[in-house]
Amino acid sequence: MNVSDILAKGSFSKKDIVKLLEAEGEDKILLFKKSAEVKEKYIGKKVWLRGLIEFSNICGKDCLYCGIRKGNKNLKRYNLSDDEIIAAAKFAYDNRYASIVLQSGELESASVTNRVENLLYKIKEMSGGKLGITLSVGEQESEVYRRWFEAGAHRYLLRIETTNRILYSKIHPINKKHDFDRRLQCLKSLQDIGYQTGTGVMIGLPFQTSEDLADDLLFMNEFDIDMCGMGPYIEQADTPLIIHSDKLLPINDRFDLALKMTAILRIMMKDINIVAPTALQAIDSVGREKALKTGANILMPNITPGKYRDNYRLYDNKPCTDDSAEDCQSCLEARVSLADTEIIYGEWGDTKHYEKRLQAAGGRLP
Ligand code: SF4
Repeated sequence: MNVSDILAKGSFSKKDIVKLLEAEGEDKILLFKKSAEVKEKYIGKKVWLRGLIEFSNICGKDCLYCGIRKGNKNLKRYNLSDDEIIAAAKFAYDNRYASIVLQSGELESASVTNRVENLLYKIKEMSGGKLGITLSVGEQESEVYRRWFEAGAHRYLLRIETTNRILYSKIHPINKKHDFDRRLQCLKSLQDIGYQTGTGVMIGLPFQTSEDLADDLLFMNEFDIDMCGMGPYIEQADTPLIIHSDKLLPINDRFDLALKMTAILRIMMKDINIVAPTALQAIDSVGREKALKTGANILMPNITPGKYRDNYRLYDNKPCTDDSAEDCQSCLEARVSLADTEIIYGEWGDTKHYEKRLQAAGGRLP
């Protein structure tokens, strides 16, 4: 079957997705045209903001690709004070971002649970309940997720990184702390509790195949996610995975694959939220705009106080680490209009997908 026939179908098989991922020339143009049409029909030109607060780069885990892994000694660790976090959240609220993401390295402890819970109550109080809050603080017990949900978090982003178990074990230490099944269980708990649940993968990892990426997309569809944050794998010099750099696709091919993944996911899951990741901008100065044109509809401007940003070094050449939150805002507006899209201020921008799931469950999930 050719690309045009595949795109005309209502759903994709693994073989179809592989063919789309390998599309070049006219076929690639057809794919991006189709995903742009689907986005225009189901999402329109709207882009919603999530002010990103990277509140701590202290992590208890050692993922082999990650620059803030516990074992990296070449990094200054930081932990924002509660006041700094609330001030960043207030910046988002005052500038009508409507939503923030609280992100950090992964730590599981009673003090972390209490701290995040307190922050959630304080941010809700500061904004009169109006600021939407996404958490991205890793694997936790389901009781912890429940407490945070009750304290006001309503979205959670937990990337699976890859759904191929063998590949997962190549990019993580093999031990209980880095267990694929626990990651899956956490995602299930989040969905059961009622969070808008997001996941995502790295694209262009060493050892990764087009078949793996096709499986990743099928997983997201089957799991019925509400949000996706995925982007190209970019090496970080202080990580163990750097020794496999010789097995990587050229960086521009990883970029291209990330755009194709975004396009295919948009066609498969028409009404979910898809982030245009900053990692694309690290490769191409208009990378995020290209993602917005191809199917993404969420931007996550970094509103972490500038002095800390350079130390949230998930990968090398991370852009905008020197900008202030104000600089980010004016730059984003220009970029978004370049992509013929429009930032919607003052709206949470929850997905229609989630609303449908909620209605189907009689107004309360699970
Ligand atoms: S990917 Fe997340 S859990 Fe793994 S080392 Fe980095 S911050 Fe920690």
